[in-house]
Amino acid sequence: MPNGKPAGVRCVQLTLDNRCQLFGKPERPTVCGHLQPSLDMCGASNEEAFLFLTYLEQATSFTTPT
Ligand code: SF4
Repeated sequence: MPNGKPAGVRCVQLTLDNRCQLFGKPERPTVCGHLQPSLDMCGASNEEAFLFLTYLEQATSFTTPT
């Protein structure tokens, strides 16, 4: 995404079945390539992974003062 992916916004590179369209391609963002899956982060199911990712996005998001 040209200006980075804001918290809470679905990445435009995700397919409908939640796979990265850029996986294995040089244009995949470096941060994505360095992120290593772990049981703590991914849990044991898609649902557990989304719960944790939602928590992380909420915990690290901020709003710009107006
Ligand atoms: S790995 Fe990165 S580029 Fe790929 S879908 Fe996830 S956030 Fe988007």
